[in-house]
Amino acid sequence: MARIVVAGGAGFIGSHLADRLVGRGDEVIAVDDLTTGVAHNVNVGERCALEVLDVTDAAGVAALGDHGPIDAVLNLASPASPPAYLRRPIETLDVGSIGTRNLLELARAHDARFLMASTSEIYGDPLEHPQAESYLGNVNPIGERSCYDEAKRFSEALTMAYRRVHDLDVRIARIFNTYGPRMRPDDGRVVTNLVHQALDGEPLTLYGDGSQTRSFCYVDDLVAGLIALLDSDVTDPVNLGNPDEITVADLAELVVELTGSTSSVEYRPLPSDDPRVRRPDITRARASLGWEPTISLRDGLARTIETVRADPDR
Ligand code: NAD
Ligand code: UDP
Repeated sequence: MARIVVAGGAGFIGSHLADRLVGRGDEVIAVDDLTTGVAHNVNVGERCALEVLDVTDAAGVAALGDHGPIDAVLNLASPASPPAYLRRPIETLDVGSIGTRNLLELARAHDARFLMASTSEIYGDPLEHPQAESYLGNVNPIGERSCYDEAKRFSEALTMAYRRVHDLDVRIARIFNTYGPRMRPDDGRVVTNLVHQALDGEPLTLYGDGSQTRSFCYVDDLVAGLIALLDSDVTDPVNLGNPDEITVADLAELVVELTGSTSSVEYRPLPSDDPRVRRPDITRARASLGWEPTISLRDGLARTIETVRADPDR
């Protein structure tokens, strides 16, 4: 059993991760300022606490030590969907820089393992396809999305600096598009939008001509990958995602089929710097973690649609 801080623990991925850690016997302290997360995602109980806290608050983060010795710090705190980080660009840069620094200091003070939840966005609009961890990326440093991309690149750099200077025990997960239950209905991500639009009989919004690609990973698979990485001794960054690539237009067709919707399609302008293609090369994860996704897009989407349909608040 370990005591584990999950920053961003009331969010979509963080709350599933917290559940899985508690389920295997760990104690979790979920830390979240509830900007895009919600308190009821956290199953507070004997081995799970929720601390409502902005991780850019250095004293507040240091005081998490009042819970007792900490074995691991997992940093998932950050706005994550494009509309969420475009609404709060300065806070996004702050959480990636100041917030990450505070959490690294907490890990250092407790001689704890530190896991950084990075992103495929550090590859920007990639010129190499699929993206392996060796690819250095193609990020526009002054574009709209740079608040998120550069914050995550900085987080990775800071994490590696703590490893080099303080010999901190670090892990870096580069997470690709993930979906599943508990995504906020208004997060603006493509799976959320299409599922809700299809169920509501609204037009499905496709940005650009819908020919851009993504590769979607079901949240249970992703969480299994995060835990495998946490438990491993792999200190290099590891891509975690599902390499099954699909165009956004084909995704919309699949959502229509699975929901039985009669919705039409409506085209909208493509956001600036929207990556044309994205697909993880997961050779490293397969070889070093023995991990790969097991849930197909069709099955994962069907499960997601069922939970959205069954939500009494919808
Ligand atoms: P999410 O928005 O549901 O979760 C992020 C959580 O962080 C939220 O609960 C939010 O309230 C919290 N948070 C934000 N700023 C904070 C602050 N200053 N202090 C404390 N808490 C703060 O998003 P998610 O999809 O669960 O993403 C979790 C992490 O995984 C993020 O770091 C994101 O960048 C990364 N990631 C997600 C995806 C994906 O497809 N979902 C892909 C790549 C990377
Ligand atoms: N997208 C879309 N319709 C929507 C929302 C998003 O066509 O209603 C597109 C978006 O332009 C991008 C892809 O779907 O090309 C994935 O967008 P998302 O916001 O889910 O994540 P991203 O991978 O861009 O971070």
